[in-house]
Amino acid sequence: MALIELKNVNKKYHSGEVIVNAARDITLEITEGSFVAFVGPSGSGKSTLLNLVGCLDMPTSGSISILGTKVDSLDRVARAKFRGDHLGFIFQNFSLIPVLTVYENIEYPLVMVKNLPKEERQEKVRSLLEKVGMLNQMNKYPNQISGGQKQRAAVARALVANPKIVLADEPTANLDSESAMQVIKVMHRMQEELGTTFIFSTHDQKIVEEAEIIYHLKDGIIVDRIDRKLRA
Ligand code: ADP
Ligand code: MG
Repeated sequence: MALIELKNVNKKYHSGEVIVNAARDITLEITEGSFVAFVGPSGSGKSTLLNLVGCLDMPTSGSISILGTKVDSLDRVARAKFRGDHLGFIFQNFSLIPVLTVYENIEYPLVMVKNLPKEERQEKVRSLLEKVGMLNQMNKYPNQISGGQKQRAAVARALVANPKIVLADEPTANLDSESAMQVIKVMHRMQEELGTTFIFSTHDQKIVEEAEIIYHLKDGIIVDRIDRKLRA
């Protein structure tokens, strides 16, 4: 069974008088433990697709099933619970809380959502800090570390509640190319070590090369799918 299944998904936005077809008849399946990229120019529908898979937005028509749940028929509250239980998010602008240290930022979802005992939290946070190479920075505040370090902290935060799927919308857009590559490599290593499915978007060709499955988007349509595992 596919982990994520989209069938004939359409998303229309109304922008004044104009209707924008941001996703057009998208049918795709993503299997567990994949490392997937949505690629395309600005306006091609990358964020739209990620928001649909991330249960942040609803399709105009078509069906979306994740982990066997038909998420397009869930109400707002159920969608929020589903996100908290199964999904992790990484944002372009890092979205770390400035008054919390790196450690506290990563711990935050466990305190707020999962209510885990302190020892278990510590173990989890420290293990992730180590995996993303941020143990030495754990007591620093976001404004004391580089963009690449912030994003590696954000990767750890996205993983701390053991989500099955992590979604990252242009996670490297605010980084220089070397830090961008490091962040993607950290994500890729987490996918290999933890079996987490990663789906990210980018328009950076170098970053795309790291993905195993690449969907090329144009005007809301999938124009190409490349499976680099099959090719290798
Ligand atoms: P990308 O992430 O690839 O840049 P988006 O998914 O953000 O593309 O946008 C796809 C299309 O949908 C664009 O034409 C964009 O202007 C339009 N769009 C996205 N969100 C909205 C919205 N909330 N209202 C109206 N149009 C939108
Ligand atoms: Mg976008």
